[in-house]
Amino acid sequence: MLSVAEAEARILALCVPFGKGDREIIPITEGRGRILAEAVLAARDVPHWDNSAMDGFAVRALDCQRSGAALTVIDEVPAGGNPDKILGLGQAARIFTGGVLPRGADAVVMQEETETGDGGIVINTAVKAGQFVRRRGDYCRAGASILAAGTCLGPAELAIAAANQTAKLSVLRRPKVAILSTGNELVSVDQTLQPGQIVDSNRYALTAFVEQMGGIPVPLGIVGDRREDVTKAIRQAISEADLVLSTGGVSVGDYDYVEAVLEELGGAIATRKVSIKPGKPLTVAQFSAGKLRHLGLDSQGRDRPVIYFGLPGNPVSALVSCWRFVAPALRAISGRSPDTVAPQFVKATTRSPLRGAGQRDNYLWGRVAVDKDGFYFQGATGHYNSANLINLAGTTGLAIIPGGQKTVEVGELVEVMLIQEPG
Ligand code: AMP
Ligand code: MG
Repeated sequence: MLSVAEAEARILALCVPFGKGDREIIPITEGRGRILAEAVLAARDVPHWDNSAMDGFAVRALDCQRSGAALTVIDEVPAGGNPDKILGLGQAARIFTGGVLPRGADAVVMQEETETGDGGIVINTAVKAGQFVRRRGDYCRAGASILAAGTCLGPAELAIAAANQTAKLSVLRRPKVAILSTGNELVSVDQTLQPGQIVDSNRYALTAFVEQMGGIPVPLGIVGDRREDVTKAIRQAISEADLVLSTGGVSVGDYDYVEAVLEELGGAIATRKVSIKPGKPLTVAQFSAGKLRHLGLDSQGRDRPVIYFGLPGNPVSALVSCWRFVAPALRAISGRSPDTVAPQFVKATTRSPLRGAGQRDNYLWGRVAVDKDGFYFQGATGHYNSANLINLAGTTGLAIIPGGQKTVEVGELVEVMLIQEPG
C-alpha cells in the first residue's frame, strides 16, 4: 500500500502538461478560467504617459518651494484631454485624476491644499517635485512580461490583458475527461428504482468537479459489471479523452474488473491501493502514445499519454479521491504554472473532536473557515462513513489525521486540505 505522498508523486510523474500543440486562440470575452499558453508582453509603457494621481493643479515644484505661492491658471486638463500648453514660470493647470501632465509641470497639488486667489490660485503647502505624479513606465516598461505562461485567467488578469489591448488570447485547450460509472446496481437519475438499485450519483459529482477544474466532461454513462462490457467502455474512454475517471469496480469483489482490464490492455499501473481513508482502492494507470497506437485507439493522431483513474464507487470516497489526487493531476495536465498544482493545506483549530483510522491517514470532511484567531475546522455532523453522502454537503476542507494518530481534541490544531481551485 502506498503512502498518500508516494501516490501523489507517482500520479504527477505521469502527467504531461499541455504544450505548443495544444494552443487555441480565443476572444478575451471567453478567457475566464483559461490557462495562458504564452506570456502576454506589455505593448507600451504603463502608465502610457505622466499623469495626475489627484484632482488638483499641475505645477512646477520650483515655483512652490514654500507655502503661499500664487500661480496663474493657464489650462484645464480633464481625463482624456491632451494638453498642448507648456507651463512657464508662475503658471499652473487645473488637472483631474488620470489627466496627462502638461509639459513644464513636474508635480500635482491636491485641490484641498489650494484656494482661489487674485486671478489664479494660492498653494497652501510646500511642493516636492514628482508628488502625486504617476510617471510613464512606473508600473511596467513596454516589452516586459505582464502575464506569465501558465497563468489562470481571472478578473484581474483579464483586465490586464484588456488594458494592453490583447483582444485575442493564446490559451491551452481544456482537458477532455471521460466519466464512466461501473456497477450492475446503477440506474440514471430519472429511472424508477427497483429494490437493490441505486442512482448513479457519481456521474453528477464528477461532471461538476471536472467543470470546476476547467475540463470538458465527456459523459460515457453506466456500464454493467461484465468483463467484456467493461473492456469495451474502457477502450472507448481512453480513445476519446486525455484523462478518464471511472468509479466502482476497483475493490476485491468478484465483479471488480477495472484493474484486470487495464492490465490486459497494457496500461502501466502506477497505484493500486493508497493508505488513505476514505479512498483506499485507487487504480491509476497510464496508456502511452505508443500503447494507444498499438491498441488502435489513436484515431486523432495523439502524441500524448492518457491517464486512467479507477476510483472507488462509494460516493464520498470517489470525491475525496478526486479532491486529493485527480485535482492536482488535472491542474498539471492543463499547463498551470507548477506552483499552483499541489493542493493547499492550512493548520486549523478544530471545533469538533476528530478520530484517527488505524494506520491509514484519515480525511474527515467539514467546513474550514476563518475567525479572528485564524482558521478553524468544523467537522460534518452525523456519521463519517464513505457511503454517507448526506453530510458531505457544504464541505470546504478535509481534516487529516495522520495514520497512527488516535484523536485530535477540540481546540487542538489539525492540518486541513482546502477544497478549492487555487488561483
Ligand atoms: P464498488 O467500488 O463498485 O464496490 O462500489 C462501492 C459502493 O459504491 C457500492 O455500494 C456501490 O453501490 C456504490 N456506488 C458505486 N458506483 C456508484 C455510483 N456511480 N453512484 C453512486 N454510488 C455508487
Ligand atoms: Mg461495483
